[in-house]
Amino acid sequence: MSSRDTANVLWFDELHREDVNLVGGKSSSLGEMTSSMDVPVPFGFATTAHAYRYFMDATGLNDKVNALLQGIKDYENSDELHSACEQIRNLIVNAEMPADLADNIKQAYADLAKKVGQDDPFVAIRSSATAEDLPNASFAGQQESYLNIKGADDVVNRVQECYSSLFTDRATYYRHKQNFPYEKVALSAAVQMMVFSKASGIMFSVNVANGDDSKIVIDGIYGLGEYIVLGKVTPDHFVVDKDSLKIVEKNIIKQPVQLMRVADGGTVEQVVPDDLQGKQVLTDEQVIELAGYAKKIEAHYGCYMDMEYALDVNTNRLWIVQARPETVWSQRNKDKKKSDDGHVVAEADAEVAVRGLPASPGLSSGVVHVIDSPKDIDQFKQGEVLVTLMTSPDWVPAMKKAAAIVTNNGGMTCHAAIVSREMQIPCIVGTKSRNLAATDALKTGDVVTVDAKNGIVYRGKVASLLDKDKPAAGAAGQVVAAETFAPTATGVMMNLGDPELADKYSSLPADGIGLMREEFLWTTYIHEHPLYLIEQGHPEKVVNMLANGIAKVTRAMAPRPVVLRLSDFKSSEYRKLKGGDKYEPHEPADLLGWRGASRYYDPKYINAFKLELAAVKKVRNEFGLKNLNIMIPFVRTVDEAEKVTSIIRGEGLIRSADFKVYMMAEIPSNIILADKFNQFVDGYSIGSNDLAMLILGCDRNNDTVASLFDERNLAVKRAIRHLIAAAHKDGKTVSICGQAPSEYPEFTNFLIQSGIDYVSVNPDMVKETKRNVAHFEQRIILDKMTGRGLQDPTDYSWE
Ligand code: PEP
Ligand code: MG
Repeated sequence: MSSRDTANVLWFDELHREDVNLVGGKSSSLGEMTSSMDVPVPFGFATTAHAYRYFMDATGLNDKVNALLQGIKDYENSDELHSACEQIRNLIVNAEMPADLADNIKQAYADLAKKVGQDDPFVAIRSSATAEDLPNASFAGQQESYLNIKGADDVVNRVQECYSSLFTDRATYYRHKQNFPYEKVALSAAVQMMVFSKASGIMFSVNVANGDDSKIVIDGIYGLGEYIVLGKVTPDHFVVDKDSLKIVEKNIIKQPVQLMRVADGGTVEQVVPDDLQGKQVLTDEQVIELAGYAKKIEAHYGCYMDMEYALDVNTNRLWIVQARPETVWSQRNKDKKKSDDGHVVAEADAEVAVRGLPASPGLSSGVVHVIDSPKDIDQFKQGEVLVTLMTSPDWVPAMKKAAAIVTNNGGMTCHAAIVSREMQIPCIVGTKSRNLAATDALKTGDVVTVDAKNGIVYRGKVASLLDKDKPAAGAAGQVVAAETFAPTATGVMMNLGDPELADKYSSLPADGIGLMREEFLWTTYIHEHPLYLIEQGHPEKVVNMLANGIAKVTRAMAPRPVVLRLSDFKSSEYRKLKGGDKYEPHEPADLLGWRGASRYYDPKYINAFKLELAAVKKVRNEFGLKNLNIMIPFVRTVDEAEKVTSIIRGEGLIRSADFKVYMMAEIPSNIILADKFNQFVDGYSIGSNDLAMLILGCDRNNDTVASLFDERNLAVKRAIRHLIAAAHKDGKTVSICGQAPSEYPEFTNFLIQSGIDYVSVNPDMVKETKRNVAHFEQRIILDKMTGRGLQDPTDYSWE
């Protein structure tokens, strides 16, 4: 054994990527970049896996941990899992670290202080598990990080906390699911100099929206990166061409708030100063500098990489704070390449006619029609390949008919690129920049195959290529873009009914769950009235069953946010639960009766409401599923909002950066008094079902008036516009979870034009809505570019 194998501490500049067994993925990756590459990484050291094993042996914890893990009979039982994991974590945190190990760590911290010339420097301590960060086994985010740590004793304590974080409920559950034996897992703590971020973000060496590996994508926000992960602010988005390191796409977003670190170690949300809002978070030079690092890191590792960076407030220096293999596209593109290899001969035989920039992905074949002037576009036929110098708005009728578009000029943001992406037509632009203009290389009547993913036009019909893309063929014989989803400024969320479907639907490209109706948990798992269960002496049944059901969904969706809407049964529905008869009034119109918030503070129901909240606490605090947020339905008055939110707070659920309390906006009073409701919530979700009912006076369950029930009525739309404006005034978000956008896709266009932040739709509409949102957002940009103004001339103001 070399001395490295038995060292308790190793410095980053002694470490290499193959040292995963010594220090885990994260530390070895930080080490590799420090020791072998020219990229800026905050300096530090790592405690080793050997040190962890020594700690576990010397303290006698191994046997105890093994026994506790073996005692878990059912990993799906959150209570059982949690109880075992909690005991393990307590054992680890409370154990006495062997003195020689503690001394080694303290000495390394003292040496670090000397190296950087500061007494007791602030450090970040990050867990690095040996099962973590390996390609195809991304357990990312399941182990803790501690920031702003100072002083040798605290460093030692946090290292021990890192050890315990190997046994969070979630990490333990995942390892079990992945059959990853406990003995093979060890934990290293990376202790590195703090970067005090004024901006930070993530970058990938592959465009994660569509798998295009000729691009680097960089997202950036002001302050700490947590707000990207939490989705609290939408980051600036940059796309950089990997070859030329030129920025080819920029999407600058106004960011109202930032999370900043404070001196004592905590964090605080601050308003982004006016002069910075709407300004690029990173300068072009910084974007290019980062892209250069991304390119180097990818070349060094030989695979697509997922990286985090930070911009230091004091030095204005960029630092790479994390780099790990990207897992999704690495696999997908590898699979694709394998299948491509099966057709290599056919492709190799095909003659390349011209090359250009792949502006809108897809593959299509057809007969070329070269058109020089828009006055000739009426000669253009459906399914032909449009070849021209450049398009402009008056070309759109021909573009709509095209199987593919190829232009001489233009870059990724030119008219042809934007419009073809919007129409999902394969498009290659800028062929002239690749030496040969399309209008010279191709003539009317030529048959070609346009591979717009790779920017190549082949002569003839390359059947092998086209066959591969067949499932994506459009109705008119065109080939539409492959199933990739562009990032959108408006979040697309999913409404989830049946919790049993959470696993299945979690693979949909939704940004989270915008509405999880708690009623489904009662009817799926509990079946008994909460007040009846309380009377029977079993309130814990409510808490446990609710918590397990909620955990099923939040776990399936993690780390994406889930909004649980607290109970909104009507009395007739509650009555059907066992024992419900005794507690539920007979109401003439229960849609307008004892429902939603009105129950929560009522002495007759408040104890049951507290059980709902206890279940939420259990999921967040005990199961560690912090992606859970809540929503209050049917809040009739501001007074109700105040009462209910104060009960929520009183039960220990405090609104914060990572715990949101939303309110359904589904009663006209919610809209009219939005300015007054704002103070009690983080945002709203529009319940267009109830809202349309109550604005139009049209019972949503009454067939006789069904033809009059229409969320697209101007009165409803005006209400929605008003709400969004009033909410945004106070920095509150607005989503929608009623049926309107699922039923009428065009409604989403109205919502986007009105400035909505999220749209939550039924699972079967997620993909279509995701595409529609990208398309509608592009249309808005396009309308602005072409000066056409917004397409909808309706007057939505009501004042
Ligand atoms: C709504 O009212 O639009 C809504 C989503 O809630 P529910 O349909 O459950 O009343
Ligand atoms: Mg409703």
